[in-house]
Amino acid sequence: MKNVDYIIVGDGYAAYFFAHQLILHQKSFVLFSANKKSASRVSAGIVNPLVLKKFTTFWLAAEQIEFLTKTIAEIESYTGKNYLINERIHRIFHDENEKTLWCGKTETEELKGFLNPAFETLEIIKNPFGTGEVNHSARLDVNAFFEGISSYLEANDRLIHEEFAYTKIQDSTYKNINFKNIVFCEGMAVRANPFFNDIQVIANKGHHLKVKLSQKMNHHYTLKKKHFLFPLNNDVYYYGGTYDPNERENVIDDFKTEELITGLSEFYLHDFEIEEVNYGFRPTVKDRRPILGNHPEHQNYYIYNGLGARGILNGCYFSKELYEHIENGKLLMAEVDIKRFNK
Ligand SMILES: Cc1cc2nc3c(=O)[nH]c(=O)nc-3n(C[C@H](O)[C@H](O)[C@H](O)COP(=O)(O)OP(=O)(O)OC[C@H]3O[C@@H](n4cnc5c(N)ncnc54)[C@H](O)[C@@H]3O)c2cc1C
Repeated sequence: MKNVDYIIVGDGYAAYFFAHQLILHQKSFVLFSANKKSASRVSAGIVNPLVLKKFTTFWLAAEQIEFLTKTIAEIESYTGKNYLINERIHRIFHDENEKTLWCGKTETEELKGFLNPAFETLEIIKNPFGTGEVNHSARLDVNAFFEGISSYLEANDRLIHEEFAYTKIQDSTYKNINFKNIVFCEGMAVRANPFFNDIQVIANKGHHLKVKLSQKMNHHYTLKKKHFLFPLNNDVYYYGGTYDPNERENVIDDFKTEELITGLSEFYLHDFEIEEVNYGFRPTVKDRRPILGNHPEHQNYYIYNGLGARGILNGCYFSKELYEHIENGKLLMAEVDIKRFNK
């Protein structure tokens, strides 16, 4: 028998950021990965303090960005790499009204730190009204982040490449492992979890393209009009992701590929080739807040889910809240507590 403080089920942002808290606090654990393509692994990696439709900010944005920067530096200390790319988002304006709105908001206390008042006009792309830069925005190097942490876990015997079988759990034992706590971080696959399959997550399917651009950008920005465009390597760029809250099948939806081609063609007027189309299912919640907490009967069984909106910022920030709750009895914020659904 093996004894551990924690079992983590899942391998997306929820699981990896929670694993980081355990590493930081020297807790023993194993993490189960089913080796499937998660929403996290197809994500763009954008770290954005704004809602770019209306130029507003959101709950805890400044605190979450600060906490992510600190966390990524901590992860660098044991994996040897910094995964945060400091390339700012440039929002391509649709018209003069948007510029006026942006200018007005740069004078508000809440937004002046995030909206750069100096506009730019960029080459290569169509941007007759220019672009506005989002201060403190950045991008996670998604592939490197997952490769870096999984290699570290593997080297420390903490990664189990196996789908967790719910029928094999008995009280605080799973096969040959005794655990103090178990944290389920399965994203949309939580629907197969008999302990938490009643949580209210809605699948929001997102597609993105990898495209080869015939004319490379001469700047290092993340461009945003309908979707995000940024360089991955050489002349290959990421463009996406779309949203679709309807229950869809596990295949590429051609109409979403078309939506992306149309979106990109609106501001990139040169030739491009599609290299790949990918998709994933975001675990979203009606109130757009994560879901944290424990099972009413099995009190050492925890859920960490609902990261469909701002998976990176929320996933990073609330991993510490959950850790403090489990280890030190810190109360969960009412906004994210699973108990908010018991009304
Ligand atoms: C196209 C697209 C672009 C996105 N872009 C961004 C972005 O730029 N910024 C941002 O912050 N967010 C973005 N997101 C959202 C974000 O990626 C997700 O909301 C978030 O990753 C959800 O993380 P998660 O860990 O909860 O779930 P997931 O990423 O779905 O991970 C859950 C994992 O658990 C595994 N698992 C499930 N059950 C088991 C089991 N029984 N045993 C073992 N393993 C199991 C699954 O295989 C899966 O790999 C994007 C999403 C999509 C689809």
